[in-house]
Amino acid sequence: MAFRNWVSAALELLYPGSCLLCGRQLRFESRPFCPVCAGCLRSLHPVRATHRCRVCSLPLISEQGICTRCRRRLYAFEGNFSIFEYRDEVRELLYQFKFRNRVRLGPVLADFFAAALKERKPRGLLVPVPGNPASVRARGWDPMVVIAGVLARNHGFPVGRLLARRPGGAQKTLSYEERRSNLAGKVRLRHPPPVGTARVVLLDDVFTTGATVSECAHVLASIGVPSVEVLSLAIDVP
Ligand SMILES: [Zn+2]
Ligand SMILES: [Zn+2]
Repeated sequence: MAFRNWVSAALELLYPGSCLLCGRQLRFESRPFCPVCAGCLRSLHPVRATHRCRVCSLPLISEQGICTRCRRRLYAFEGNFSIFEYRDEVRELLYQFKFRNRVRLGPVLADFFAAALKERKPRGLLVPVPGNPASVRARGWDPMVVIAGVLARNHGFPVGRLLARRPGGAQKTLSYEERRSNLAGKVRLRHPPPVGTARVVLLDDVFTTGATVSECAHVLASIGVPSVEVLSLAIDVP
């Protein structure tokens, strides 16, 4: 497996192939191993909404404060901030990353997290939301753990792999309430936080119902972490 990865990495450096988003032949205009051209990277625009939900950061048309979704829900985290809306190019990038095994998109996606962390300055220990064990086993790697690893190595952020998932749990088609009851007890503490950890920033790919991150936050709160926030790459706009 490692040899195969090494060979494919060497081949991709020699023949960078084409951009995952626009299909244009990749030259040396972007960094090595980056499977997206510089033009497409520049065209990805974070959400710049004037009004956002105070809790989940969903872009709102008017200044309502809290979106209808969050008014009906109680989360164990303080708030979520999503960088993008989950559609078009960002949706395609996440699909390629998670389901087409493009692990080299990790550093590309980590850059967006790093920029958001620097801009918003939520200090705290970064904790990746663990993937479902069955998907992690099938894929051979855990998407958010890869991104968190890049944030620690390339950007110097404090990262702790505190959480793990038990098999089963949330299904995509379920409602928030169904997901929540399905997820109860499915997240466990893998490693205690360093002594004195006052704040955790959970890292997730897509904020959909908030059930998974809420379960993660619940586990951290139950061991005495005073404050848990969520930073996600994209928000699923209903
Ligand atoms: Zn492109
Ligand atoms: Zn909301």
